[in-house]
Amino acid sequence: MSQNNSTENILPKAYEPSEVENKIYENWLENKCFHANENSDKQKYSIVIPPPNVTGMLTIGHVLNNTLQDILIRYHRMLGLETMWLPGTDHAGIATQNVVEKALAKEKLTRHDLGREKFVDRVWQWKEKYGGIILKQLRKLGCSCDWERERFTMDEGLSKAVQKTFIKLYNDGLIYKGKYIINWCPRCRTALSDEEKIPEDTKGHLWHMRYPRTDGKGYVIIATTRPETMFGDTAVAVNPSDERYKDLVGKTVKLPFTDREIPVIADDYVDKAFGTGCVKITPAHDPNDFEVGRRHNLEQIIVMDESGVMNENAGKFKGLDRFECREAVIKELDEMGLLEKIEDHEHAVGHCERCKTIIEPYLSDQWFVKMKPLAEKAIEAYKNGTLRFTPARWGNVYLHWMENIRDWCISRQLWWGHRIPAYTCEKCKHVEVAEKAPEKCSKCGSEHIHQDSDVLDTWFSSWLWPFSTMGWPDSTEALKKFYPTDTLVTGPDIIFFWVARMVMAGYYFMGECPFHDVYFTSVVRDMKGRKMSKSLGNSPDPLDIIEKYGADALRYTIVSLAPVGQDIRFAENKVEIGRNFANKLWNASRYVLMNLEGSEASINKPLPPANKLNKPDLWIISRANKAAKQVKDMLAEGNFRFNDALKTVYEFIWNDFCDWYIEMSKPAIFAKDKEVKANVQQVLVFCLDKALKLLHPFMPFVTEEIWQKLPGSEGFLMKQSFPVADTSKIDDILEAEQDDLMSAVRVIRNMRASANISPAKKLTIRVVNHEGLSKVFVEQEQMIKTLAGVEKIEIVETKPKGHLIGLMGSTEIGLDLAGILDIATELARVTKEIENTEKNLNKIAGKLDNESFVSRAPAEIVEKIRTDVDGYKKQLEKLHEYQNELKSL
Ligand SMILES: [Zn+2]
Ligand SMILES: [Zn+2]
Repeated sequence: MSQNNSTENILPKAYEPSEVENKIYENWLENKCFHANENSDKQKYSIVIPPPNVTGMLTIGHVLNNTLQDILIRYHRMLGLETMWLPGTDHAGIATQNVVEKALAKEKLTRHDLGREKFVDRVWQWKEKYGGIILKQLRKLGCSCDWERERFTMDEGLSKAVQKTFIKLYNDGLIYKGKYIINWCPRCRTALSDEEKIPEDTKGHLWHMRYPRTDGKGYVIIATTRPETMFGDTAVAVNPSDERYKDLVGKTVKLPFTDREIPVIADDYVDKAFGTGCVKITPAHDPNDFEVGRRHNLEQIIVMDESGVMNENAGKFKGLDRFECREAVIKELDEMGLLEKIEDHEHAVGHCERCKTIIEPYLSDQWFVKMKPLAEKAIEAYKNGTLRFTPARWGNVYLHWMENIRDWCISRQLWWGHRIPAYTCEKCKHVEVAEKAPEKCSKCGSEHIHQDSDVLDTWFSSWLWPFSTMGWPDSTEALKKFYPTDTLVTGPDIIFFWVARMVMAGYYFMGECPFHDVYFTSVVRDMKGRKMSKSLGNSPDPLDIIEKYGADALRYTIVSLAPVGQDIRFAENKVEIGRNFANKLWNASRYVLMNLEGSEASINKPLPPANKLNKPDLWIISRANKAAKQVKDMLAEGNFRFNDALKTVYEFIWNDFCDWYIEMSKPAIFAKDKEVKANVQQVLVFCLDKALKLLHPFMPFVTEEIWQKLPGSEGFLMKQSFPVADTSKIDDILEAEQDDLMSAVRVIRNMRASANISPAKKLTIRVVNHEGLSKVFVEQEQMIKTLAGVEKIEIVETKPKGHLIGLMGSTEIGLDLAGILDIATELARVTKEIENTEKNLNKIAGKLDNESFVSRAPAEIVEKIRTDVDGYKKQLEKLHEYQNELKSL
C-alpha cells in the first residue's frame, strides 16, 4: 500500500508519560498481547515470577527484579518465541497472619477469641480486599505478565498440589514426624527454619560452674553461656584426646540443685580450647548436644515450656522466665561456692527474624522432609552444567549448602497456611496421611480422629511454583508446553529458602530441573551505601517516581545502574537521566515525522541501494546493524548483560542517531533533489524503526507510542520482530572515517566554544597537511562545513599565524581569528575570567581545609564541594591553556 505520509502522524510537542503509559497498557491488555498460547507450535520461552507476598507493596528491589524479567520476556517475544511470564502471589504464612492479627488487636481481639475457622475466614477476607496490590503495581511498571494465568499459593489448584506432594513424600518415606531440636521462638510460639534465625553478635558471659565429682575428688569445671539449661544436662563431655581429663571419663558428677548423677563422656565434638575443655550436654536444648546425645543414648530432658518459662524439671526455679532463672541460678551457685568465675564473652546468638526475640533451641514434635535423597540430583545438575548461576560465584554457595544439607522442618504453629494432611486416632494414636479426613481409624475403628493442627512452611508451597502453577498434578497442555521454564530472576537472599528447594522439587516430581539459568539481581542501596529498607525510610515509593518521571525512565535508570554482580546505588534524581533519554528520543522522532510529509518512506520498504546513498547514510546503517549485533550477543543465553545492552542502544540513539545523523541528514532533507531527499527519508525511517525495536524491551511505553506513528506500522511494536543484524552492512572502515569527521567537527566546535564565538559566525579553517591525516577535510569538506559552521577550509603546509590551533591526533587545525575576534580584547577577557574562576575556587576550597567543617558537614555536602572544586580546577586548566595559546599568536 502506497500512501503519502500526513501530518496526523506527528507527535505532540512534549512527551507526557503519565498520559501515554496507562493508555498503552490498556491497549496491550485489550488485545491480549501478553497471553501465551500453549497450543502454539513455536519454540517457547517461559519464566515464573518469584511470587511476592500477598501483603507486599512494590519496592525499588521489585522494580529491578521485575524490569529484568520483563526485558527477557519482551526480548524473547520479539525473537519470535511463544513467550510466557506467569505471575502470582505467595500466601506468606507468618507475614499475612501478623497483618490480620494486628488488625484484630485494634478491635481488642486475638485470633484465639475468634477461633481457628473464623480467623482463617478473616484472613481470606483481608486477602480478597487488600491482597495482591503489588500485582496491580507491576502493571504500572509495564510488566507483560500473562495475567490470565495468575496464581496464588493457596488457591484450589496449588492446595491440591501441596497435598499431593506431602502424601507422596510421606508414602515414599521422605516425610517423618519426630522429636527434633528446632529453633523455637518463645514469643511467636513457633518453630523457625535455620534461615529464619538471624545470628547477631551479642555481648554475653561465659559462666564457669563447678559440678562436684561423686568420687569426692573435687569438682569438674564446665563453661556455659546458658546456665539455666543445666536442669536438662544429662552428661558432661570432654574431648577423647584431652590429656587433662583422661582419668575423668566414665566417672560421674552430681548435678547441682538436683539429686541426679550424670556421666562424664568423651566425644570429638568437644573443643579442647573452649572454656575449660569440659562442657555440659543438654540434648533437649542445644542442637549439637542433641547430636551428641543421640550418639551416646542420653536422656532428653525438657526444662522449659513453649513460652520460655521453666517447668517442673527446674525444681524450685519452676515458673521463672528463662532469663530470670539464669540470674537466680548464678546467684545461688555463687552462694554455694559452685561458681568458679565469670568471663565476658561475645558470641553470635540466634534471633527470631520476625520479632527479634532470642531463639531457644527446643525439642519438639515436628514434621520433616529428608533432604539428602532429594539433594543428589540437584547437586548433579549444577556439576554437569544443566543448571547455571549468574553471577557464577553463587554456584559454590549453592553447592556447599546442598552437600551439607539438613532435614527441613516443614511444620509451623500457625493457622494461616496449608494444614498438614495427617490424621491421628485419639484412641490408638495411629497416624494416617490422606487427602480427606478418614471417617474412622483403619487400625482400631475409632471415630475419634483429629487433624494435625500445624500448617506447612510457606516455602512448602512455593518450592512447587514452577509446575504447580501450570496445573500439576494434572498433566496439562501448559505443563507440556512451558515446563521446564527457562530463566529464574531472583534475589540471592532466597537461594536456600526457594531456589535450591525448587530444583529439588523439580527433579523429584517432574524429573527435570525447573529452569536452566538463575540470574541473581543486585542489592539496591542508597547513595550512602545503606541497603534500602522500610525501617530506614530510605526507600522511595516507585509509584511516586513513575507518576513523576514515567515507568520507562525508572526502568532505564535501574537497569543502567545494575552491572552483573554489583550493588546498585540508587537515588530518585538519577531517574532524570532516563526521563531525558525518553525526551531526546521523542524529540528526534518528532523531527523525523515532521519531515516525512508527502514522502512515501515506510518501515516496510527496503533501503535504497548503496550507490544511491551518501557516506553518513551508509554509516548510520552500519551503526544500526552493529548495535543490533552487539545487543543480541549481550542478551544471548546465559549472558544477561542487561546494562551493557542498554548502553549500546542508548549510545546508538543518543549519539549516533540524534546527535550526528539527524544533523548530517539535514542537507539532503532540505535539498531540492527529490530522489536524494526521498532516499534519506527512507534511511531516517529505517533507523528510527530499528532504534525503537532495540529499545523496546527496556523502555516499552515510549517506544510503542512512537512506533505506532511510523509510516507503515501496523499493530503493536511489542509483537514485532527484534532487529536482526545484516552484518554485510557493517563497514568498519567507513565507521573509522566517520569517526575522523566527527573528531574534526568536535575540535572546531571546542575552539569555537573556548573563544566564545557565536554559533552564527562562519569560520575559516586552515588544516596543516600532515602525512595525509588531513584527508577527511578534503573528502568530507561539505559535511564538516555544515556541521561545524565553517565557510572555508584550506589545506596548508605550515602552521598559520593568527590562528587558534586545535589538535586532532597530531593534525593541527587552525581557526582564523581575523575579523572574528581582536586578540588583545580576547586576552583581557580570558584573564578576567581566570581571575573570577580563581576567586570562586578559593571561596569553596577553603572550606575543605577547615577540618571541623569537613568532619561536621553532611557527607553529601562535602562530596558536592569536592566535585565543584574539581570542576573549577579543570576549567582553570583549560583557560590557562587558551590564554597561552592567545599569547603565542
Ligand atoms: Zn518471634
Ligand atoms: Zn485407632
